Amino acid sequence: MATHSSPAATGSAYPITDHTFDVVVVGAGGAGLRATVGCSQAGLRTACVTKVFPTRSHTVAAQGGISASLGNMGEDKWQWHMYDTVKGSDWLGDQDAIEYLVRNAPAAVYELEHWGVPFSRTEEGKIYQRPFGGMTTHFGKGTAQRTCAAADRTGHAMLHTLYGQAVKNSTEFFIEYFAIDLIMDEEGRCRGVVALKLDDGTIHRFRSQLVILATGGYGRAYFSATSAHTCTGDGNAMILRAGLPLQDMEFVQFHPTGIYGAGCLITEGARGEGGYLTNSEGERFMERYAPSAKDLASRDVVSRSMTIEIREGRGVGKNKDHIYLHLDHLDPAILAERLPGISESAHIFAGVDVTKEPIPVLPTVHYNMGGIPTNYHGEVLTKRGGDPDSVVPGLMALGEAACVSVHGANRLGSNSLIDLVVFGRAAGLRAAEIVRAGEKQPELPKDSADLALSRLDRFRHASGGTPTAHLRLDMQRTMQSNCAVFRTGEVLAEGVKLIHDVWTSAADVRVTDRSLIWNSDLVETLEFDNLITQAVVTMESAANRLESRGAHAREDYPDRDDQTWMKHTLSWLDTHSQKVTLDYRPVHTYTMSNEIQYIEPKARVY
Ligand SMILES: Cc1cc2nc3c(=O)[nH]c(=O)nc-3n(C[C@H](O)[C@H](O)[C@H](O)COP(=O)(O)OP(=O)(O)OC[C@H]3O[C@@H](n4cnc5c(N)ncnc54)[C@H](O)[C@@H]3O)c2cc1C
Repeated sequence: MATHSSPAATGSAYPITDHTFDVVVVGAGGAGLRATVGCSQAGLRTACVTKVFPTRSHTVAAQGGISASLGNMGEDKWQWHMYDTVKGSDWLGDQDAIEYLVRNAPAAVYELEHWGVPFSRTEEGKIYQRPFGGMTTHFGKGTAQRTCAAADRTGHAMLHTLYGQAVKNSTEFFIEYFAIDLIMDEEGRCRGVVALKLDDGTIHRFRSQLVILATGGYGRAYFSATSAHTCTGDGNAMILRAGLPLQDMEFVQFHPTGIYGAGCLITEGARGEGGYLTNSEGERFMERYAPSAKDLASRDVVSRSMTIEIREGRGVGKNKDHIYLHLDHLDPAILAERLPGISESAHIFAGVDVTKEPIPVLPTVHYNMGGIPTNYHGEVLTKRGGDPDSVVPGLMALGEAACVSVHGANRLGSNSLIDLVVFGRAAGLRAAEIVRAGEKQPELPKDSADLALSRLDRFRHASGGTPTAHLRLDMQRTMQSNCAVFRTGEVLAEGVKLIHDVWTSAADVRVTDRSLIWNSDLVETLEFDNLITQAVVTMESAANRLESRGAHAREDYPDRDDQTWMKHTLSWLDTHSQKVTLDYRPVHTYTMSNEIQYIEPKARVY
């Protein structure tokens, strides 16, 4: 297979290997792989660059399932899925994008089925679907069974299938290449990306007509997260350094059931299969907070209720600081068939036999609703000339890195996996329209890798007194205590100061290994540098939003304020002065077709 590479003459001290492709996808999770398949199928020469082996991307850890209104286990319609997603988003989601998501969801699931995902089955052989939080029928009246599952290892099944498809379609993979920064030209077009090949320390410059960022979320800005250690939002940070904005970064989802102490996830599917939460009095307290949906209310609602129970002294355990999740009343045969993975996790990480005892759980950081603003084609948005829908040429973003925005202020469980494949496919379709296969690309300026390489150089030779691990811990602790489930102006103002202090102290970072080969100290420092920029804009965006909406719960502003705040936050960051600039973008309050009307805001009760 051709590698299209040649050594390049540049002004840099590092020898550089050049590559030219029509499309370069950064990230090989569900979103990156689906886009890669689409671009390859469109006849575009496509590279997929990834810092971990594709099937180790965080998508592999997704448990509960992928939502689509197939109606295999009771009546269902995309209109109900749309209503639930808009309500789940607390009316911050863009309704045109949400309509696109839910209408295309069933076809996307059947496509995965045909490509080989081994879904669990009903008696008649149809794809098995389980109930999930916030998923209803008849516009909030009944409970929907909408979440398609391959036992509790859905992401694993999906990712392996998608990787197989990408290989089949002759995608060229660049595995264990760490993308450092985008190459932007003077007109603001993205022209490629610079990466470090981890196993031999060589530098690679990818030139392409289109770069697609599918680099996942930044859960690791927090101390306790269900996400993998690799979830450092590298693409988001590249966007900030390119002078482009991120969107809605204050909306960070806490999943109700991370294993206490370990942070590993127990899927919402556990409650979907009949599990329930109790406090120290043995009370099923969710009945008080969400009388109809109970334990299957939306994640932000359940996480807040648990936090209130603990605060009011009804937590369980020696320190009364967590909650119990019961599965011990369920048929052990069902647990073995439908929830084998989490039964094993509970045993390993909490020493619990789920057939006999409850699992100790605590709300844990799980998902980033915010990210790189895009339209429903995946094209990156900026606010050039005040136009909130202007796109950045040559650049797309997908998956958890992106903010389309279909999840708004709070994502519903199982709506991320479907987001990956629906918008991954959309990006491939759009690429086929805007990229011409094999079109000659202008030479990259000689110095086009210099910014990325000077950053690499700075950290490689960093000889201060503070190890990266200390800085990372300071950042994670600050985020965990000052930007958590409940927020106040005072706590956030302190958080803004503390998080900037951490960043300032990073000038003293120490990297001991000077080599470029398998230098985990250097890579973790690059990742920390990516995380801290996102932590800063998250904290400042949260401090500035004076209302409660979805995952952003302000005790000093307990109500949602549609009059002033039904708008997306845009945040820019000057990485030299550390100055954050905030601006806003209107929510799309229209649908794509006349088959469904705009869903008017109303009180969000479950
Ligand atoms: C434990 C867990 C369970 C979940 N369960 C569900 C579920 O049941 N249903 C659901 O809908 N959602 C679930 N989610 C959410 C969902 O899995 C994620 O949001 C989604 O998988 C993210 O996919 P992605 O393709 O955007 O990114 P990821 O899968 O995180 O992949 C990111 C990719 O980017 C690459 N990358 C990153 N930085 C760089 C860089 N600098 N250079 C090169 N490559 C880079 C990585 O190598 C990787 O390939 C779960 C999440 C977690 C953490």
